[in-house]
Amino acid sequence: TVCLSEPKGIFMSHKIMAINAGSSSLKFQLLDMPQGDLLCQGLIERIGLPDARITLKAQDQKWQQTTPVADHREAVTLLLEMLISHGIITSLQDIEGVGHRVAHGGESFKDSVRVTDESLAEIERLAELAPLHNPVNLLGINVFRQLLPDVPSVAVFDTAFHQTLEEPAYIYPLPWRYYAEFGIRRYGFHGTSHKYVSATLAERLGVPLSALRVVCCHLGNGSSICAIKGGKSVNTSMGFTPQSGVMMGTRSGDIDPSILPWVAQREGKTPQQLNHLLNNESGLLGVSGVSHDYRDVEQAADAGNPRATLALSLFAERIRATIGSYIMQMGGLDALVFTGGIGENSARARAAICQNLHFLGLAIDEEKNQRNATFIQAENAIVKVAVINTNEELMIAQDVMRIALAESETFAVSA
Ligand code: ADP
Repeated sequence: TVCLSEPKGIFMSHKIMAINAGSSSLKFQLLDMPQGDLLCQGLIERIGLPDARITLKAQDQKWQQTTPVADHREAVTLLLEMLISHGIITSLQDIEGVGHRVAHGGESFKDSVRVTDESLAEIERLAELAPLHNPVNLLGINVFRQLLPDVPSVAVFDTAFHQTLEEPAYIYPLPWRYYAEFGIRRYGFHGTSHKYVSATLAERLGVPLSALRVVCCHLGNGSSICAIKGGKSVNTSMGFTPQSGVMMGTRSGDIDPSILPWVAQREGKTPQQLNHLLNNESGLLGVSGVSHDYRDVEQAADAGNPRATLALSLFAERIRATIGSYIMQMGGLDALVFTGGIGENSARARAAICQNLHFLGLAIDEEKNQRNATFIQAENAIVKVAVINTNEELMIAQDVMRIALAESETFAVSA
């Protein structure tokens, strides 16, 4: 269960760290829980290079430092030293829990999990499914375990929320053994965001999530759409990898699968090169030829670039097609939610996605849309349309509280 509005004042406050480790970067937030107040956030970039950059922000203060950072262990050591030297924590004992974003939980993890030797071994085994992400997520977990050996940690999986999908939503029509032997199926990603945003929506509406049919559009550099019925993910656009579904910044999303063998044969591309083509050269960038960044493509379209205009239309059309199929699957729609950098900020994207849907009882109020109001549906519309900022770090910290600190919390309350 998601606790967005725990009563304040009864509980002791806990400093919880939320970590998102990438191959050459590490993003973090330190939160005061259960209130969810952000104490500081930061980013270490270019890990492994002589000019790595550390950025730390707390309230209205910001520190930046360029320094050689050899590896993730050194990055985390520097980060912890900075937290103490800038007075954000007085000692390492102040940190009571660490939550780690982990890309792939396969079919093993249906929820976040306390990090133990056993759960780590399973995450390692699943690296086969996410070779680019799980190993670096594991590295982050291990570095924190070494540097803060007494602090409990929790792994939060991008896939876990979608483990409620039923077979017709997750089986691909391939020979059965690809599922049975290799685990090739739809897993879905962005689960932490879809879960947080749908729970926040229900709270803002004052309606239990169990009574709602929601489509959540997480639109950022990576984009995915999720159908959430009664609080459970019942379908989602990303699949076996975060490459499928709608069109993204540099990813194609769904295409005719036979394009790949055709291109491989014609241009002699290796699997790695095909992957690069689909993941890094396609999407908004591939079609517009301008940029992967939605704002840049908007600007180019405004300046009259026809391929940029086409890229924006394609982007919206693929999302509309996905939303349409989810409305069919759920037998209706109560709310459509936008989140992620594009969903939260681009009135143009939201308007393009919602156009001509009066027949569904869905229409937006353009004035509210322009100012990114929380609810942007037109007055007489039946379907609510919401703009909700995602907060994966808060969700991670809540899971650390729920899973790792629940016992000590009970003790604190009853003592
Ligand atoms: P990520 O998936 O990397 O977390 P974000 O959620 O930050 O990405 O989203 C990045 C995208 O959001 C970029 O395409 C960017 O152009 C777009 N974006 C951010 N702000 C705006 C804005 N004001 N208007 C339109 N697009 C925006």
